[in-house]
Amino acid sequence: MRLTLRPFWRRGGQAGEGPEGPGFLDTVPVPWGGPAPAEQAREQYERALAGLAARPADPIALAVAIPFCAAHCLYCERDIHAAQPAEVIDAYVESLLAEARLLSQRIGARHEVLQAHLGGGTANELSELQLVRLVGGLQEVWRMPADAEMSVDCDPRRVTQSQLELLRGLGFRLVSFGVTDLDPAVQQAIGRRHSQALVDDVCRVARESGFERINLELMIGLPQQTPARWRATLERIVDMAPDRVALSRYRHRPASVPVQRALDAGALPSEAEARAMWAMASEVLCSAGYDWIGADQFVLGDDELATALQRGELRRNVISYTATPNAALLGLGAGAVGEIDRSLYCNERALPLWQQSLEDGRLPVVRVRTVDSPSAPSGPHEHSFESLAPRWLS
Ligand code: SF4
Repeated sequence: MRLTLRPFWRRGGQAGEGPEGPGFLDTVPVPWGGPAPAEQAREQYERALAGLAARPADPIALAVAIPFCAAHCLYCERDIHAAQPAEVIDAYVESLLAEARLLSQRIGARHEVLQAHLGGGTANELSELQLVRLVGGLQEVWRMPADAEMSVDCDPRRVTQSQLELLRGLGFRLVSFGVTDLDPAVQQAIGRRHSQALVDDVCRVARESGFERINLELMIGLPQQTPARWRATLERIVDMAPDRVALSRYRHRPASVPVQRALDAGALPSEAEARAMWAMASEVLCSAGYDWIGADQFVLGDDELATALQRGELRRNVISYTATPNAALLGLGAGAVGEIDRSLYCNERALPLWQQSLEDGRLPVVRVRTVDSPSAPSGPHEHSFESLAPRWLS
């Protein structure tokens, strides 16, 4: 399929961009004596949930935020809690289930889950017991059919064979591994090392465990990345033959992302080099049989997303591009984002405040933004990055 590529950095955003941009209700001045923005957001969310309760046959989707990782990668903008003890994650899992129950009190338990995603950090930071508790607990609340589109973000440096087998057994069909870049000099610059052999190995184990799709995530614009190194990474990725490849662009914002201060700004590629690397990625991946379906995502030509695009049925929501029918999306977890009827609802990002809200029996939504429907049928020619909902990347 031939596509006209538009460099995504011209559009003022990038994949993985959080919902904290302009337009959320907490940027609106509060009239004296009026409800606080968080209260307004919660009231609007309650109304949206009441509407959903009146349509029990409507399917739903779940975006479950797991904000834990082994370490905070130096380029990562997300709110990550690194190297947390088991008790903290246990408590988080229980709070997620409390949030699910709170939501089911509003919308009822008859909705079927068509799509669910676990990530936004590293889902495999959860132990096997915690994963079973979480997924089992969600299944007690809502029905999840065997063909639900369930996806999970895993860190290839930490995932084990038994975790992958368990995740597949729990119903996950797509696994996404954060690879970032395979070049040793780039990996040294960003403090995140793993060999091609390791990525190869986890992909093999994921396939043997029965995962139907593997997505590998790469990033353009990192320190020490050069067109030559980038091409070598792309060629190695093509050799691994993942079903999908997602690209994102690094944004160097050390003033607001303190962890990035440890990166060498002098080693960043220029804008021209970054653009050349985006064009190179398109050329290498499309020559190897991938289709660019929009924004950051390439998929093999026979992927269901490629065929959905050809049928005009491809949609994008907070989780990813999807071929599933439109469904109200509920965000669960600290900083999680949901989408109902063209409005995005963002949960409290600070973990203790999110947890406190649930302990008080209050929905933890604190911001809302109305958007042009990112779920509308669309293709790459109609997409712009400004209209994309944020996406959880591993
Ligand atoms: S890039 Fe992925 S593994 Fe690294 S801190 Fe961010 S979410 Fe965690």
